[in-house]
Amino acid sequence: MSKKTLAELSSDVLVGRHVLVRVDFNVPLQDDGTVGDDARIRRTLPTLRRLRDAGARAVLLSHLGRPGGEPDPTCSLEPVADRLSELMEGGVRFAGETAGEEAEAAAGDLDDGELLLLENTRFHPGETTNDPELAAAWASLGDLYVGDAFGTAHRAHASTAGLPRAIRDAGGDAVAGLLMEKELRFLDEALADPERPFVAVLGGAKISGKIDVVHALLPRVDRLLLGGAMANTFFLALGLEVGESLVEEDRVEMAREAMEEGGEKLLLPVDCVVAEELDTGATTRTVPRDEVKEGERIGDVGPRTREIFAAELARARSVVWNGPMGVFELTPFAGGTLAVARSAAEAADAGALVVVGGGDSGSAVEEAGVTDRLTHVSTGGGASLELLAGNPLPGVEALSESAEVEEET
Ligand code: ADP
Ligand code: MG
Repeated sequence: MSKKTLAELSSDVLVGRHVLVRVDFNVPLQDDGTVGDDARIRRTLPTLRRLRDAGARAVLLSHLGRPGGEPDPTCSLEPVADRLSELMEGGVRFAGETAGEEAEAAAGDLDDGELLLLENTRFHPGETTNDPELAAAWASLGDLYVGDAFGTAHRAHASTAGLPRAIRDAGGDAVAGLLMEKELRFLDEALADPERPFVAVLGGAKISGKIDVVHALLPRVDRLLLGGAMANTFFLALGLEVGESLVEEDRVEMAREAMEEGGEKLLLPVDCVVAEELDTGATTRTVPRDEVKEGERIGDVGPRTREIFAAELARARSVVWNGPMGVFELTPFAGGTLAVARSAAEAADAGALVVVGGGDSGSAVEEAGVTDRLTHVSTGGGASLELLAGNPLPGVEALSESAEVEEET
């Protein structure tokens, strides 16, 4: 790990210390105002328990939703503080503002081992503009920073980038939390020098958001399996009829280039599940990819494609998967995605490193019931794509270098 981590810090360093912790508590709130799926909160618990056990005084920062730079009660983190308090069995305080006198006073009141959650960072307009004054206000609350919000690490915001820089400018350390460390270990380091064959599976709605990933992965992988609506644009580039399928006409050229670059490495679906409408009650047909009719829509990859992809995954020693193979939210078009999820899990059972990134892909592996069999399912959709595309993450760049790296340079 090139970045300094929380795991490297001993309890002596942490006890009694005010530590600023950027977490990802961007969870769904239900109509009654309580937290829905609390998976994101749970994923941060190892970091928070470590800080508590060491006797640190943790000040937690997170955004929730898009309040647009001003207080919006529907995006308050107060229900999150309640849920966190249940999960931590007490010792959690909440401040009704993100920066200012109330936040300062609340941070000052903390005892060793207590946690304070500040109100939504995006209630302040300076968060998304990475305002140095806001970063300085937060930096004045502590002298150590823990970045654990992998899901927001691709944003250069005040709490993810400005604050860790301000802490370091003041002579403090900014370290990766336990969740952040795990994400980087699997998405970055493991895939930098993967055991081969290395197989990538890409799908999802849009080629435009993922073409950088295609280009970044092609030279590194042994196979790139492509499905989902993304594949439709490649079909267009091959001159195939795609009916009313979701396509990006303006990306056909990109698809053509990727096919040239990829050659035999790039595998497209050979058959598809089609219907006139993509809905739950759809009457479907399974056809070779050159028999899609006008007016039809491609909703999933077909059974022959699933077999081919399964065979590739069975041989793989490293797998990265982002994006569903079809409209998996609808039962008639879920088969391809679930089949890939099962094949990926079998590969992991057989000892391959299998990493899944992407919000919808995460839901799909959850639905297939295979999450626990995989090496790692990332918590960050956008951030994991940026890493796979080879782009640096501002929230990671801002952290201190680990001691070993510093000694070398
Ligand atoms: P992730 O969140 O895992 O990165 P994306 O957001 O890129 O994945 O894509 C997921 C979406 O792609 C899903 O909502 C799915 O319904 C849609 N999708 C996949 N295949 C198709 C298709 N053939 N036609 C239309 N939409 C599709
Ligand atoms: Mg998505």
